Amino acid sequence: MSKYNFCAGPAMLPPAVMKKAQQEFLDWQDLGVSVMEISHRSSDFLALTEKCEASLRRLMNISDEFEVLFMHGGGRGQFAAVPLNLHLDNKTAVYCENGVWSKSATTEAQKFTDATSINVRNDSEDEFSIAPVNEWKLPKDASYIHYCPNETVDGLEIFDVPSHPTAPIVADMSSTILSREIDVNKFDLIYAGAQKNIGPSGISIVIVRKTLLSRTGLPKPGIFDYALEAKQGSMFNTPPTFAWYLAAEVFDWLEKSGGVGAMQAQNIAKANLLYDFIDESDFYSNKVAKHCRSRMNVPFWLNDESLNALFVEQSKDAGLLALEGHRIVGGMRASIYNAMPIEGVQALVDFMAKFAQENS
Ligand SMILES: *Cc1c(COP(=O)(O)O)cnc(C)c1O
Repeated sequence: MSKYNFCAGPAMLPPAVMKKAQQEFLDWQDLGVSVMEISHRSSDFLALTEKCEASLRRLMNISDEFEVLFMHGGGRGQFAAVPLNLHLDNKTAVYCENGVWSKSATTEAQKFTDATSINVRNDSEDEFSIAPVNEWKLPKDASYIHYCPNETVDGLEIFDVPSHPTAPIVADMSSTILSREIDVNKFDLIYAGAQKNIGPSGISIVIVRKTLLSRTGLPKPGIFDYALEAKQGSMFNTPPTFAWYLAAEVFDWLEKSGGVGAMQAQNIAKANLLYDFIDESDFYSNKVAKHCRSRMNVPFWLNDESLNALFVEQSKDAGLLALEGHRIVGGMRASIYNAMPIEGVQALVDFMAKFAQENS
């Protein structure tokens, strides 16, 4: 039986990448040792990091105006690193809130700065929604504007990019990076923890406009210092080398699979398959407005919640793993990142149809 892993994170990785990693686990590039067992400053590892960055730059079309950093501490590490690096004494950071993760980012920033938040949700009684970006009430001035393009828990995605005449735009792309084409030039800082669309947990990607590196910010740990990490090639200290290696392999796999454009087409097809089925069903529901439904994380609810435990149990027996919803929102959630093939989504839809039939 094929098994499909719908975990929100750490999420499934491309099977081809996992197989290659397994094959070279004990002996990488005929060195007689694992990639985990060599110096991060050795020429072999440095070649890997250069290849990795070049690959990401091609995939996302990142210009020389941006620095690409490979850092520690995942998404939440960046919740702290962003205010520590971008704080300005005479301006306030503005956090746009549209769900669980963007709210957590505000809370973390407020430990270090007097960040303010605005609510960009536009819910009605029977629909979850987000206001169009051009209607967000952004202040005239800010040290930066932070938002979360894909709310992993709530299942809400923002496809347009907010803009501001002077303040840099900062985006937490932990659960949407590389899933669809974006114009990096519309942003000033993009960050992402790796464990959804890039690789294993422990490493995070920061794409930062070079002009922002001159900000002094606040006193901060060296490992969270963008300017220092840029100067040191992301090697101020020992980086998570195995995670970096796997990220490089995932980028390579992405390029060979046709790049972000091909992923986007497949992700649209996958999301449509699942949402269309849910919309046509009177057994399941999803309350998110169509224009802001996440293509990566699809929360859905059984109209009869007393069947939740049975659904989780039987889906697991059918080889469909980790469908139980996030504890905050309940219900079910299928995370369908780049590595999930459309066959997995079809298997889920088939199971959901059968379960509905048997329990109606
Ligand atoms: C998972 C996630 C995070 C947190 O990542 P950690 O690596 O666990 O700190 C932050 N933001 C978003 C949008 C996420 O999906």
